[in-house]
Amino acid sequence: MNRIRLLPEQVANQIAAGEVVERPASVVKELVENSLDAGASRVAIEIQAGGRSLIRVTDDGAGMSRDDALLCLERHATSKIQRAEDLSSIATMGFRGEALPSIASVSRFCLTTRERDGDSPEGTQVVVNGGKIVAVKACGSATGAVVEARQLFFNLPARRKFLRSEETESSHIERYLTLAALACPAVTFEFIKDGRVVWQLPAVKANERLAALRERLRALRGAEERLLPVDFSGTLPAYGQEEEFREARAARERFDVWGLIGAPGVSRSTREEQHIFVNRRPVENRGVNYALLEGYHTALMKGRYPVCCLFIEVDPAEVDVNIHPAKREIKFHREKAARDLLTQAVRQALLEFHQRVEAKPVLPQAPESKPVYAAPPLAQPVDLPHFTKPASSVPPPAQAPAVPAAAPKQESSPALLHVPLRLVGVVGKLYVVLESDRGLVLLDQHAAHERILFEQMMRRLEENVAAPSQRLLLAETVELTARDADFLRGQLKALTRLGVGLSEFGERTFLLDALPPFVRASDPRRFVIELVDELKAAGQSVNTLRLGEHVVAKTVCRHAVKANDPLAGPELENLVEDLRRCAMPYTCPHGRPTLIEMNYRELERKFGRAQ
Ligand SMILES: [Zn+2]
Repeated sequence: MNRIRLLPEQVANQIAAGEVVERPASVVKELVENSLDAGASRVAIEIQAGGRSLIRVTDDGAGMSRDDALLCLERHATSKIQRAEDLSSIATMGFRGEALPSIASVSRFCLTTRERDGDSPEGTQVVVNGGKIVAVKACGSATGAVVEARQLFFNLPARRKFLRSEETESSHIERYLTLAALACPAVTFEFIKDGRVVWQLPAVKANERLAALRERLRALRGAEERLLPVDFSGTLPAYGQEEEFREARAARERFDVWGLIGAPGVSRSTREEQHIFVNRRPVENRGVNYALLEGYHTALMKGRYPVCCLFIEVDPAEVDVNIHPAKREIKFHREKAARDLLTQAVRQALLEFHQRVEAKPVLPQAPESKPVYAAPPLAQPVDLPHFTKPASSVPPPAQAPAVPAAAPKQESSPALLHVPLRLVGVVGKLYVVLESDRGLVLLDQHAAHERILFEQMMRRLEENVAAPSQRLLLAETVELTARDADFLRGQLKALTRLGVGLSEFGERTFLLDALPPFVRASDPRRFVIELVDELKAAGQSVNTLRLGEHVVAKTVCRHAVKANDPLAGPELENLVEDLRRCAMPYTCPHGRPTLIEMNYRELERKFGRAQ
């Protein structure tokens, strides 16, 4: 008896479907990608019961002839891949030709299509039931394609049981559609859920890609958050030594990043609003997530995630998209280099946010060559907008920086610290109330002070200048528990470099003989003990024994500021001036905002004067 039998094609399709069709959202993804690849300018997606009872995708793309319609339902028939080698440089989205037969094998499936450039006035309809073609007929149809998948997994009860609630499934679908809509602003999208229109996104006309993205985001989200443009061209390290193929290599070294990221202070508690695309394909990659956080550095609170919509463009040969059957996860061949470039792109955008409106009067000067890595502007203080007193009725100085003529095209209003601010008062001994021409501004004294101290400290460390420190009149000894003493020993070097003069003075005893000048601690010993506690807490969260210098600096700053008295009048003015000179003035080193702005429009809305 012959025990070996060939798998019938239907079974093979169902197995393949297990890889590709995880849930309704993956069906939607495959179908929408097909529509986009077919050059559709309009895609409508309709679902019922979270996609369990119906998924229908209608497009006005190229459509198919009767032969093609039948062929595309055969496994591994794809117009996009001719040879196996082509897999390495796939630039289109839906290269998985097996998606359609896979979907058809696990649903009640119907494809209706008519070729855009064909001569036939009629369309074709193919009805497939759990993988079996049950009808092929001519029919009236608009050009393009309508694909319907009803009762997903009806023939695989075990899979059907694993589907989550309708809400969960439809939120996965919506998440994917959001990504597709962001990647293709020129395409009209319509999303209908249980007969109700969820969104209707008209095609964006703007040619400029950032403007188009902004407009699409606005259509999706309504009110726009403070987003900063990213426009970065990087170069991956050169490959090999050969002189030939120079051109081919140049293409492979390109690493461009563009899109929008949240301004300092704009963040979320999940990664939900973090949209990353590689060659227009939405992706997940842990290195990319890490690079984003690195890029924000101190502009993001712990446990918060950036808001972003970023497009990375690289040679497709630099990316491995086949590590996940549904192509969600990708791998860069040169992961570390890619990560560093992304970090650089984000950081540059954040630094530019502050610097771009630094409308220095145009001086006839030899053009300075721009440093590759923008240094914090601390070193060259520029003319800053005046800090006027509330008493003066003088209008804001004429030289108040207007948006320079050559300002980057993307943003209209200058950053907050580039408009004149008038001091109104202080509330709660902590919040400084300021007024700008745009409305109300609140400044958190502690956060601002922390940022200033932090940048001063880091700059000294980078320049390898010993931090100034104030000798104590009387050195004090501080005794700690054995464990704390052990811990502190590991941080001594960093602390000394930061101006905290501590040295070992026995098994568990340390000698404190100097403090940074800005620390006005009335009880130096307590200052050290509390500092150790805070450092320990910081150490637990990063899970290392030896803390990085910037972690120590952050903690010293926070603690120094806490130990300080509230500032008054002229000190406050200095505070704002010093903040203006910071590279990342809008957050404290822990990522909390230093300033909050409420413009007149918002005030009017709150008082019911405007909608
Ligand atoms: Zn802080």
